[in-house]
Amino acid sequence: MDLVFSRLDDSVARFTISGATPAFANALRRSMIGEVPTLAIEDVRIYDNTSVLFDEILAHRLGLIPIKTDLSQFGRRSECSCEGRGCPHCTISFTLSVEGPGTVISGDLISMDPRTTPVHNNIPIVKLWETQKVVLEATAELNTGNEHAKWQPTLACGYKEFPIITIHDTCDGCGKCIVECARDILEISENKVHVRVVNGETKERDCSMCRLCQIACMNSGIGENPAVIIGADNTKFIFVVESDGSLLVKEIIERALLHIKSRSTDLTDALQDISMEGL
Ligand SMILES: [Zn+2]
Repeated sequence: MDLVFSRLDDSVARFTISGATPAFANALRRSMIGEVPTLAIEDVRIYDNTSVLFDEILAHRLGLIPIKTDLSQFGRRSECSCEGRGCPHCTISFTLSVEGPGTVISGDLISMDPRTTPVHNNIPIVKLWETQKVVLEATAELNTGNEHAKWQPTLACGYKEFPIITIHDTCDGCGKCIVECARDILEISENKVHVRVVNGETKERDCSMCRLCQIACMNSGIGENPAVIIGADNTKFIFVVESDGSLLVKEIIERALLHIKSRSTDLTDALQDISMEGL
């Protein structure tokens, strides 16, 4: 299996996996979304809330704020040596005290640890009029997206099969497919349509597989079969993964792959135990 990155920075990764199966591609996607832990606010103690929002809605909004997560610092609360009571190894506390008029923003959350703060300081939580105020204490803990969407470390996270554009000799170079293509993938040369090559790279990978070019070719009166055919390689996948900023996108991919590996090992061990019992 080959993995080639075309983009990798702190928050976005774009990569191609070759020699994989659709099942593996989907397992990786699901693992990145639902199995990589991150911090999110889970408990909120509200001392004063005279804003227009109910306490529950306020707590819900706080839960959705992405928090910078150092996975070497925190463990799961349910697996911690404090037996779930909450300690610096499994929870992080924030305080918030704002009086109106003004907007309560994520930057108003004051963390007990300056390294563990909201990813963005300008996320609006609630607007306050004069005399209104919000005073609360919030506790964030580690969990996964499988438990609740607020613990998902990813924003956009998906893949598509690698597109294959085949142009047959029956192409008469009418150019109708080029007009239809919104992604500017095709061009005409020597009276025949070709896939464009930009900076030495074929534009084939940018194809959204909408097949409008194929339909335009059929409508041009070419006959029973179009000259432009859009297919896909189901052993090669293009992934786009975007982090919400709580973890580096590289860390999300690594952790997701380690999760798949550990689940596979568990399954192999279980199967071996069954076969041993059978003997
Ligand atoms: Zn603990």
